[in-house]
Amino acid sequence: MTHNIVNWISGAPAETTSGQQLPVYNPATGVVTGQVQLSAQRDVDAAVASAKAAFPAWSNLSPLRRSRVLNTFLALLNEHRDDLARMITAEHGKVFTDAQGEVMRGIEIVEFACGAPQLLKTDFTDQVSTNIDNWTLRQPLGVVTGITPFNFPVMVPMWMFPVALATGNTFVLKPSPLDPSPSLFIAELLKQAGLPDGVFNVVQGDKDAVNALIEHPDVQAVSFVGSTPIANHIYETGARHGKRVQALGGAKNHLVVMPDADIDQVVDALIGAAYGSAGERCMAISVAVFVGDDTAEKVMPKLIQRTQELKVLNGTNLQAEMGPIVTRAALERITGYIDLGVEEGAKLLVDGRGFNGQAAGEECGDGFWLGGTLFDNVTPDMRIYKEEIFGPVLACLRVKDFAEAVELINAHQFGNGVSLYTRDGHVAREFGRRIQVGMVGINVPIPVPMAWHGFGGWKKSLFGDMHAYGEEGVRFYTKQKSIMQRWPQGTAKGAEFAMPTSH
Ligand code: NAD
Repeated sequence: MTHNIVNWISGAPAETTSGQQLPVYNPATGVVTGQVQLSAQRDVDAAVASAKAAFPAWSNLSPLRRSRVLNTFLALLNEHRDDLARMITAEHGKVFTDAQGEVMRGIEIVEFACGAPQLLKTDFTDQVSTNIDNWTLRQPLGVVTGITPFNFPVMVPMWMFPVALATGNTFVLKPSPLDPSPSLFIAELLKQAGLPDGVFNVVQGDKDAVNALIEHPDVQAVSFVGSTPIANHIYETGARHGKRVQALGGAKNHLVVMPDADIDQVVDALIGAAYGSAGERCMAISVAVFVGDDTAEKVMPKLIQRTQELKVLNGTNLQAEMGPIVTRAALERITGYIDLGVEEGAKLLVDGRGFNGQAAGEECGDGFWLGGTLFDNVTPDMRIYKEEIFGPVLACLRVKDFAEAVELINAHQFGNGVSLYTRDGHVAREFGRRIQVGMVGINVPIPVPMAWHGFGGWKKSLFGDMHAYGEEGVRFYTKQKSIMQRWPQGTAKGAEFAMPTSH
């Protein structure tokens, strides 16, 4: 039985008017499990109108009262953590324990946003001049929208709406059409938590819904996470239409292995970070850079063996280390890159093509299966190095020294995450200072910042000025106002024509 996935407007499910829909698959089996309706301009208009109508009352509530709603939502999320994780596995395919981790990382942002009263506390200067005080307010923007990718259907929306709502905005979420079900469950939990109708809305759909949102005159800000070409389009179009935009894009994340690194730790890090979630993470490691003469030789035998032994299984199986690829189209794109790597002359050490889905369980024959893939002798001029593949494909490169590793990474078009494995504190410190990448891990393979630190890459991994969540998120969703106030005593002194100075 397939289910019908609709919009959520003014606190209730809403059918779309386009008459169009897309199938939603279980990637492990290839079976269609739902139909997601696609929104037309009219549906987007209805969602934005609902958010606009809810804004005056919501923004006028005290931050503490808004945070109490989020606290209740937090309790409901904790109660339904595994339900959300199961929904993720069913439509995305990632393994259940990984999906549980995703939900938890989303919950951490809600915990952060519950501190709204503290987050919105601002500066006050008493007596900037005689009888005059000056202070700063941070006020919400109005209706804001979040457009999210398939790879984190719970966590990435939660990078956005908890902070947006806590700071007094109203929200329209446009989730990925590949795994849209969690968005409606989240909407229901927010309603149960006491969120007033219209404060949080969901429009399902794809390109048309997105374009209607980013050009809508009543939308004040756009948060986007997805691939770089679309991020670029969102940034340019949104900005041209007067919106504040943060658009997080694609990635190619390197893990640098210094000659002094602990080899077993490196192998564990590479296996988990390259193949976890089938490499469909914007912080996945897709390039290993071995520094020195024989570093690669020490790592490679273990890396090959572990890649061959990966437990690629239906994500519902608790033994699974890697699940299927999200769609058949994504599977074909990734296998196309593996073909290309062979053509370009890279050495294919482990080939995931033709992985037998039956091995992943008896009901998995028509799923979108691929095994872990490992290339060696990759060079910086190859497309498999330069472009984002977004699948379980690890490319290995060798460089002569630390300086060459830094130069290589700094020359890459993307700058999302990076990791360095070493035992040398000085090298680690230099790396952190010199590398042109937004998120750096030292002996940490996937350095996704905690809720209060903010997430964002550099170069073509982020278009816009501010990172997601943390204090940058609070700044993104609010505008600053300065108030200078005098309560005069006695009679007027007459107009002042010179620039006011302190006296
Ligand atoms: P995507 O760019 O295909 O889709 C992202 C969103 O844009 C979806 O909601 C989709 O419906 C919409 N969209 C797709 N085509 C569009 C178009 N032509 N015009 C307007 N909107 C359109 O990305 P995806 O495949 O869902 O996600 C994977 C990508 O996201 C990878 O490139 C990955 O690196 C990136 N990502 C980046 C981060 C980050 O923080 N930098 C985090 C997660 C994912």
